[in-house]
Amino acid sequence: MDRIIPIQPAPAEPSATAITPSADGLGCGAGKDAMQQAALSAGKGEILAQYAADYPLKADAGPHDQPQSMCPAFGSLRVGLRMRRTATILSGSACCVYGLTFTSHFYGARRSVGYVPFNSESLVTGKLFEDIRDSVYDQADPAKYDAIVIINLCVPTASGVPLQLLPKEINGVRIIGIDVPGFGVPTHAEAKDVLAGAMLRYARTEAEAGPVAAPRQARSDKPSITLLGEMFPADPPGIAQMIAPMGLAVGTVVPTREWRELYAALDCAAVAAIHPFYTASVREFQAAGRPIVGSAPVGVEGTHDWLGAIGQATGVSQDKIDVARNATLAAMRGVLAQQKIQGRITLSGYEGSELLVGRLLVECGADLRYVGSACPATPWNAQDAAWLQSKGVHVQFRASLEQDIAAFHEWKPQLAIGTTPVVQAAKEACIPSLYFTNLISARPLMGVAGAGSLIQVINGAIGNQTRFDRMKEFFGGAGQGDEAGVWAEVPRQFPAFRADVKRMNEKAKKKRKAEEMGG
Ligand code: SF4
Repeated sequence: MDRIIPIQPAPAEPSATAITPSADGLGCGAGKDAMQQAALSAGKGEILAQYAADYPLKADAGPHDQPQSMCPAFGSLRVGLRMRRTATILSGSACCVYGLTFTSHFYGARRSVGYVPFNSESLVTGKLFEDIRDSVYDQADPAKYDAIVIINLCVPTASGVPLQLLPKEINGVRIIGIDVPGFGVPTHAEAKDVLAGAMLRYARTEAEAGPVAAPRQARSDKPSITLLGEMFPADPPGIAQMIAPMGLAVGTVVPTREWRELYAALDCAAVAAIHPFYTASVREFQAAGRPIVGSAPVGVEGTHDWLGAIGQATGVSQDKIDVARNATLAAMRGVLAQQKIQGRITLSGYEGSELLVGRLLVECGADLRYVGSACPATPWNAQDAAWLQSKGVHVQFRASLEQDIAAFHEWKPQLAIGTTPVVQAAKEACIPSLYFTNLISARPLMGVAGAGSLIQVINGAIGNQTRFDRMKEFFGGAGQGDEAGVWAEVPRQFPAFRADVKRMNEKAKKKRKAEEMGG
């Protein structure tokens, strides 16, 4: 196989050997600033500036004033692993790769994750880039793959490993190299957009250059709506039913499951940004001249407005919009009239669909006080935020765990919906709770099916309060704090030892501080 790579480094770009040695050994624990600084001096300034614009953090973010997310790269990895005929390769520290592969298999990847290991020497000398290039050449078999995705994790990004210098295509296999550092991409949700956006960009360039492959599945002859965001499998058919009276069809869901679906996604009448954080993907659709519609068909008011916005974006006549609205809204009003959620709820999550769930909860009768999302405010969730605020709900974008838990303590809900630590805090306080990712975002939300299914699960959870009370009564204060666990006998307290340790820790802390100030 020909191993000569057509690399033509432009003067401003870093070369494969101009890697910053100082980034070796940095990781989550090294601190965001140190990693960012290393990446900037290693020539990654442009991509970090793009991420800062696409995925903005609060200007005054303090150490705890930011979302706590799993390793963001998981979002990109997951998008790659879910695509047919796509190989995904990680370049990063072994511990990061271990965690990411573990999580991906926990979520049923059923696919190998490629890994190019490195050590101090290969990182510093630029050999890592050569190893990545070799592995990409080894993998680039057009009989097996349409695309190979290489993801630079924190250390290779901070070291400036120049994936942009890889060939764009080998033997007809597309090569997509992306940097997904935890110090540049705030959440795993937004990391999905990093890869989806990079793929759309590649596919758009291909489509602009000439004919491209048709999608495997036959397409409707009606104008189609591309749906942006991973959603429950029953939602796209539900949306299709809602928009059929307007003469529209549901097209592709992005992130796609196969490369050729990207062309179909771009070839749409409009894009529904159901998940509002796909900023880079939206940029590609806009470059392809497609209108974008925010929010989603959730609840009566949400569905009413969304159908109107989709109709307007695609030039559908008002009478057809009214027919579509009447068909769906009548059924939805019927469901909402029969059942109601009764109880106070706080809600938080990092999937990006929190505001949509919040709207649905309010329309189902819930006394919702707080919605926290790890994702940022964007034009595509502005309408949902305004709607929730008009109902007296506090909406917190880029919510930190501290803010989510403070909201829980302040509002003392009958049900807390949240991330694992929020759910744990609620359980400790003897309050029923539901994990957002597994129990709320993994069910239909749109249209009639969404309303019916959510009411059932929420009322079921709130109804569990008596079980919590019984458990609390049975266990009392056993097993709390440092007495938690299984003990052969009643744990003994050693207050003198505890006081000694505390004194020593404080002394060491003061000494460290004095040394820092002195140094
Ligand atoms: S790649 Fe992920 S796990 Fe590794 S240092 Fe970065 S954020 Fe942490």
